[in-house]
Amino acid sequence: MNLGEYIAKIIDEQGKTKVWVAEKSGIIYKTFVDKLTRDSFTGKELLRVAMVLNINLEDLKDVEKWENMKSYCLNCDTDVEFNIKEVIVKNEIKGIFFDCLAKIPYCRECGEEIYISELSDNNVKIAHKKYRELKGEI
Ligand SMILES: [Zn+2]
Repeated sequence: MNLGEYIAKIIDEQGKTKVWVAEKSGIIYKTFVDKLTRDSFTGKELLRVAMVLNINLEDLKDVEKWENMKSYCLNCDTDVEFNIKEVIVKNEIKGIFFDCLAKIPYCRECGEEIYISELSDNNVKIAHKKYRELKGEI
């Protein structure tokens, strides 16, 4: 998924329209749609759109970083492109159970979850951070 596709997805998820986002970002609608399709936003436009849609810049960085990367899928037995989805997963650390948002890569061919060590490590870190927060509150 490239940045254009990602932004289109967010617009959809938020129930907004492209007309609205274009207007709020100060980009002519036709140009905006064209840029979405071609994934050809300038840095400044990207920032404006991100602000209008309240998109976390870290998420944009992630999308850009993983675009066109391939990783091994056990099920397909080959390197595949993948989509990263944010999923709520159940965690248990030292007897404390909690839900946590994790970034999970899924194979674009078969839809199975695949393993990418960097993402997996990151999910573990996020879980531990949440655990510490929870413990601090008790
Ligand atoms: Zn697969």
